[in-house]
Amino acid sequence: MATTDQGGKRIFSLSNKQLEELIAAIEQAIEWHQCWYKRLLRSLIANVPACEEDLDDNAHALCEFGLWFNKLPSSSKNLHPYFAEIEIAHQKMHHGAKVLLSLNEANSKIPVNLLDQFHEDLDRVRYLFEAVNEDFSKLLHNRDPLTGANNRTHLLSNLREEHELAKRKSLSCALIMIDLDHFKRVNDQYGHSAGDKVLVALVKCITSHLRKYDHLYRYGGEEFLVCLPQTDLKGAQSFAERLRVGVEELEIDIGKDKPIKITGSFGVSSIRADDDIETAIEAADKAMYQAKESGRNQVCVT
Ligand code: GH3
Ligand code: MG
Ligand code: MG
Repeated sequence: MATTDQGGKRIFSLSNKQLEELIAAIEQAIEWHQCWYKRLLRSLIANVPACEEDLDDNAHALCEFGLWFNKLPSSSKNLHPYFAEIEIAHQKMHHGAKVLLSLNEANSKIPVNLLDQFHEDLDRVRYLFEAVNEDFSKLLHNRDPLTGANNRTHLLSNLREEHELAKRKSLSCALIMIDLDHFKRVNDQYGHSAGDKVLVALVKCITSHLRKYDHLYRYGGEEFLVCLPQTDLKGAQSFAERLRVGVEELEIDIGKDKPIKITGSFGVSSIRADDDIETAIEAADKAMYQAKESGRNQVCVT
């Protein structure tokens, strides 16, 4: 996804509902501008009088998208790096349309270069809207609705890509399989929704430790897989140890008197050049089970 580091983290914290609202707003903006363009052609070709807003110097702020966009808090405007470009391109496009309409109203000939420039700006705005929505939609469909971690849809293909990259550049790449310890007890003792809160808190904790190019997947119910590109086995082991401590130190508020404490078991493997991805996942899984057998709340390596 073409998001900045900060933007990426903020998008991650958006709920699915918020993401869906953003996607719907951009879709509406695309549709609205299609109608607006038809209206513009009616004025320019059939001399239907132009709307007052389209002749205003602030036309970009008066259109439906402009009204919506200007109301967004600045933190939301940083959610996608293209938002800043959209703001500029959208203003330029409306300004171009205003110039064309003004010339037409004054019965002046429209220079072809102005018309061409306007169409270039229009195409740019459409491209930016579509690119943003493609990114948001991908994120929405590839993530687990409860925790926001990636779901398994593209797990194998993404890991194969990382593997290929690592092979080409002779870099290491490591995996960590994480499984919560005695998680069933949390559900049994405090209820399923408390269990859900634990999973959300766990993912938040793991995510806070990740670099921007690491990936986190919800592998199963309370099992998570982390992919660490450019990391050898030793580096992954110390990273997993930091994670283990981070999880152990979590105090999870479930709306009861006392916060819940949890631990996890961690299995680390590296994706060897000659192995396939499935083998590396199995190795991480095996190491995780070793951590369980050795008493849980620990890191094992294969
Ligand atoms: P172990 O230390 O051996 O891993 O014990 P465990 O209790 O964690 O393992 P087990 O596999 O028996 O239990 C996993 C539990 O995770 C069972 C299942 O109900 C629960 N679980 C799976 N997905 C979710 C979820 O989305 N929300 C909640 N609340 N619970 C879930
Ligand atoms: Mg478990
Ligand atoms: Mg499990």
